[in-house]
Amino acid sequence: MKKYIFVTGGVCSSLGKGLASASLGTLLESRGLSVRMIKIDPYINVDAGTMSPFQHGEVYVTDDGAETDLDLGNYARFTASPLSQANSITTGQIYDAVIRKEREGKYLGKCVQVVPHITDEIKRRIYSIGEAENVDVTIIEVGGTVGDIESIPYLEAIRQIIHEKGSASTVSVHLSLIPTLKNGEIKTKPTQHTVKSMREIGIQPKVLLCRSENEIDLDMKRKISMFTNIDENCVISAFDVNTTIYEIPIMYHKQGLDNVVVDLLGLKTSKANLADWEKLVDIYTKAQKTVRIAMVGKYIQLDDAYKSIDEAVVHGAFANGVKVKIEKIDSEELEKLDNLDEVFKGIDGILIPGGFGSRGIQGMIDTAKYARENNIPYLGICLGMQILVIEYCRNVLGYKNADSSEFRPEGECNVVSLLEEQVDVTQYGGTMRLGLSKSVVKKGTKIAEAYGATEIFERHRHRYEVSNQYKAEMEKKGLILSGATSDGFLVESAEWPNHPWGVGVQFHPEFTSRPVKAGPLFKAFIKATLK
Ligand code: GLN
Repeated sequence: MKKYIFVTGGVCSSLGKGLASASLGTLLESRGLSVRMIKIDPYINVDAGTMSPFQHGEVYVTDDGAETDLDLGNYARFTASPLSQANSITTGQIYDAVIRKEREGKYLGKCVQVVPHITDEIKRRIYSIGEAENVDVTIIEVGGTVGDIESIPYLEAIRQIIHEKGSASTVSVHLSLIPTLKNGEIKTKPTQHTVKSMREIGIQPKVLLCRSENEIDLDMKRKISMFTNIDENCVISAFDVNTTIYEIPIMYHKQGLDNVVVDLLGLKTSKANLADWEKLVDIYTKAQKTVRIAMVGKYIQLDDAYKSIDEAVVHGAFANGVKVKIEKIDSEELEKLDNLDEVFKGIDGILIPGGFGSRGIQGMIDTAKYARENNIPYLGICLGMQILVIEYCRNVLGYKNADSSEFRPEGECNVVSLLEEQVDVTQYGGTMRLGLSKSVVKKGTKIAEAYGATEIFERHRHRYEVSNQYKAEMEKKGLILSGATSDGFLVESAEWPNHPWGVGVQFHPEFTSRPVKAGPLFKAFIKATLK
């Protein structure tokens, strides 16, 4: 029998439900189980592609080019679950599918309703992953907070699955907040209420994860157990870890989370093996040196806007046995300054991440110039590579008006542009290049050295390309166009000549970086900052 775990959240959002779900996945995999992860986002958007990084954080891209919620990035970093469009469910997709079927007459004249038609479509998507061959456990995380209007159809679908599959094959895990008042008192009332709301919907949570600053004691667990109808050993204290987020699976394991879940599901497994995660905590605890990286971007006000890059930089630091401090700098603010020495004082490396639109671009170009002229290791990702190219054309080739047609559609020297402006291949025009594809890199370049290979596979999410019209002139003036698409047609990476380490890539290497296996570019970038 296939097993299902449903993770819901109560009291308020941003409690770390994604990390809790991902960590539970880690624990079950470490016991030899094959795990799949699904994220449900109850919003109406069909996918995260159109959402502002300011409001919703990063858009995580899968191999198949799905633009998904950033929690899929957590799943990718903590588990081996394959992730594609099918692992990211939104209300937009569900209604889109149901309305299409209705228009095609597939409901045979019936009145189409939330129950059963919407809930059936939700269940169909969950089962299409969970019932597949070689899957033991599927963990389904429901975004938002119980009590939200939007999540009601999902909770109803979950109630039905629990009823259909039975309590031996399903577990409801609820994550709640245990706040501490100013006077030090710990409060359980919000948790009692959120579990009550779950029961009103017809779901009795079996496991409770109590988010709190400090570990809660046994007396408190007993009290919560009594009021919520949840076994005492299933009330788990999810307190803040003070090393790295990669300690969270260990924190849960120490309190027996995997044991109670495996028991509830009647699974016979091996013991948990968390050696990889213990190693990460060990590296973190023992690291003597801290590298300082300046990230110059345009969405720096929201911490989650560059989530995967933040994590990949940490992975790069792990791989080099150091700690890292990422200092986020608003590129628009930089534009107001004459002298960047103050800003970059004591900085070991500079990173320019992806982004869209013309705001803050000049600040990024000034930053790239500063890194190039001062021999500071530089990693440019997507927009960050386009910036590297534009800056080089302006300041080394002397093309004062070099730009991208994204920022200056009428510009006379757009060294980054849309494909159809370069040649007549209208079938590509105006669409985004999304998902995994192959790049071929030249031997002897920094990127080839980093990957230890000349064929590399990474994910894309962009619209503009380095213009083929100017390629020869760029190369003549020393810019190393180190990588291209496998047909040789589009530039995939560029490097500065006579510079310790200045690399820009058109793709997004952050999406495939893992804590125990850092993305090669992040490993090499951090290594360069140590020289
Ligand atoms: N705005 C640029 C483009 O569309 C870069 C995109 C990105 O950084 N993801 O090509």
